[in-house]
Amino acid sequence: MSSVRFFHDYAAELPERLYERVEPAPTAAPQLLQLNEALAKELGLDIGWLQSAEGVEMLAGARFPAETAPIAQAYAGHQFGNFVPQLGDGRALLVGEVLDVEGRLRDVQLKGSGPTRFSRNGDGRAALGPMIREYVVSEVMHALGIPTTRTLSLVATGEPVYRETRLPGALIARVASSHIRVGTFQYLAARDDIAGLKALADYAIKRHYPHLAGTSQPYLGFLDAVVTAQAELVARWMLVGFIHGVLNTDNVAISGETIDYGPCAFMDTYHPATVFSSIDRQGRYAYANQPRITVWNLARLAEALLPIMSEGEGEDDEGFKQAKAIIGSFQARYEARFHEGMRYKIGLFTEQPDDLNLAADLLDLMARNGADFTLTFRTLADEFDGERRARDLFIDPTAFDGWQQRWHERLAREPEHADTRASRMRLINPKYIARNHQVEAAITAAYNGDLDPFQRLIAVLARPFDEQVENELFAQPPTHEERVLQTFCGT
Ligand code: AMP
Ligand code: MG
Ligand code: MG
Repeated sequence: MSSVRFFHDYAAELPERLYERVEPAPTAAPQLLQLNEALAKELGLDIGWLQSAEGVEMLAGARFPAETAPIAQAYAGHQFGNFVPQLGDGRALLVGEVLDVEGRLRDVQLKGSGPTRFSRNGDGRAALGPMIREYVVSEVMHALGIPTTRTLSLVATGEPVYRETRLPGALIARVASSHIRVGTFQYLAARDDIAGLKALADYAIKRHYPHLAGTSQPYLGFLDAVVTAQAELVARWMLVGFIHGVLNTDNVAISGETIDYGPCAFMDTYHPATVFSSIDRQGRYAYANQPRITVWNLARLAEALLPIMSEGEGEDDEGFKQAKAIIGSFQARYEARFHEGMRYKIGLFTEQPDDLNLAADLLDLMARNGADFTLTFRTLADEFDGERRARDLFIDPTAFDGWQQRWHERLAREPEHADTRASRMRLINPKYIARNHQVEAAITAAYNGDLDPFQRLIAVLARPFDEQVENELFAQPPTHEERVLQTFCGT
């Protein structure tokens, strides 16, 4: 059994004004509730050690191996459109980085680890429920092949946290390719810290987009790379019906990974205006707004980078024009990815002129007929086995029939054989997603001391594209009584 040796690359390479050292905070009786062994292996970590008393103390933020110097990272951010010059890790600490088995540097961060200089009025802690939600949803995102932070562990602190009620405290270890956010750049830009901006941009390039180092316009190239990564990411969300819920600029990672699972949710019935977050009263972060809001967030990144883009990258005006063009290209990049994805979802693997209308008309019918997003696409493939399940998901099944006829006419012009098409579609359209009512049921059970539903849920969701006959229930939409219409964050 060997302990972990953490790197401190971020702290070593970047100015101290970007972080604050954090002391370990002893907790009463930490208990390891769940360890993600597959991820531990990927990180080259010793599972036996992580499960040992020392390992659990580390995962609880209570004690760290010798020479480990955890930090809280500083960042700013636009929250619901309002700029806050200082946010930062108010309830998280970066233990350090590890080199994974593929030689990539990965952050290990504890979330819920206690107060830091950035806690403002918060207690620095997290309740068990939201940590379970993050574990479940981040891991299903990974299983769906969508770039995301991961969850390595879930630890109960043994101490209560006080929200609307008294709840058991918990923390997770979050693994990310880095925690650099749009808001990290904004933190420096808001302070006119040109040297800091350069250091951070160079560091982000080294870590995420190393091919840009030494090019003639590295910062424009960086902006372009982040725009590309975000266009891809948001398209992937939209294609599985995922709603992030708090797309503030501090929750946008420049790596292109999904980060910060708060009031996030997958849609059951499809509607573009769907919002779950209790604090998103205007629907700023509604499902259909996600691409638009991401452009807005990326424009904030461009603004933050402008002071360093102008230097050595042409005249100020030139840098501005180019940055503007890059931001302007988001929509086309997003649409290319989303449209291709929608075509694939309905089994069209070649492209023909009217395909987009066909896909859009299906979405429109789904919205008007309360059809379940995940199941509609999943059951389309069943049609090739002669089973017509999709139509039953529509309030008016005959509305689907007209579309289905057009679809079949179009499919007749596809070169792909029906058998291979069905299996290909099943690799694109998941059967299992983290349905809100299932997540809530797992949380409620955990609050009552029963972790089985949580453990079963993560096991099912680790294979979202597989038929799992014994787990059919997890594929089902909620009954009317089971529906969860709101999710909460900050808890
Ligand atoms: P979020 O809405 O999760 O992106 O968090 C926004 C900011 O609030 C970040 O700076 C968090 O660190 C901080 N924050 C959230 N919850 C807490 C808490 N319980 N204690 C201290 N800070 C918190
Ligand atoms: Mg956040
Ligand atoms: Mg959060």
